[in-house]
Amino acid sequence: MRKQIVAGNWKMNNDLAQTEALISALKNQTKTTDAEVMIAPTATNLWQAYNALKGTQIEVIAQNMHFAENGAYTGEISASMLKSIGVNTVILGHSERREYFNETDELLAKKVDAALAKGMRVIFCFGEELADRKAGKEEAVVGSQIKNALFHLNAAAFQNIVLAYEPVWAIGTGETASPEQAQDMHAFIRATLADKYGNDIADEVSILYGGSVKPANAEEIFSKPDVDGGLIGGAALNADDFFAIVNAF
Ligand code: PEP
Repeated sequence: MRKQIVAGNWKMNNDLAQTEALISALKNQTKTTDAEVMIAPTATNLWQAYNALKGTQIEVIAQNMHFAENGAYTGEISASMLKSIGVNTVILGHSERREYFNETDELLAKKVDAALAKGMRVIFCFGEELADRKAGKEEAVVGSQIKNALFHLNAAAFQNIVLAYEPVWAIGTGETASPEQAQDMHAFIRATLADKYGNDIADEVSILYGGSVKPANAEEIFSKPDVDGGLIGGAALNADDFFAIVNAF
């Protein structure tokens, strides 16, 4: 059975005091589903968050990492550094990293390799832009993002890969893919995996949807058979909203 996952991406929000306050609020919430719950605070607060949430149902994960083990990469953080503070999962390929930091599929393939080599789990993000969808090219774009960044991996590697379909036009815009659009794309993604790795692998990989998921729309989106959870941006900054989404399964 593939896992249901709800991961909150805090992006560049919340200083230390705000991180502590939001974590306290999250600890007061009750989970009523089997979904795995994760939060991705900013790098400076990962250690604090990890300690505050140790032994709870919430895993602390990273928003990004470098592919190198160490060295002259000013400002960057490696997989080993994350592992050394108890962080075992990393988000890679978020559209904001692709857009503002020029992260390409080729670079992301190296980051994925580095994370997996350290035994980390990867939440790999991808998704088409509005112009792609208007041109009917969304499947071609998504298919090539997945192939370019992931299809060099062997089948076993997918035990540690979670996919996150995030149409760029729906991120932080208030506009959500309809549940049907999400389901259609998730089914396409699973079929793409099945073509390369077979049905058993494809059936086991969790595919999250991201893009303006809110308490009001989470239940309908999560009810779709190929949607295994969500990567949540804005709504993850409020403990009530985030847990309403967690409990939407
Ligand atoms: C995201 O950044 O991954 C995201 C889905 O953001 P939002 O929920 O705010 O659209």
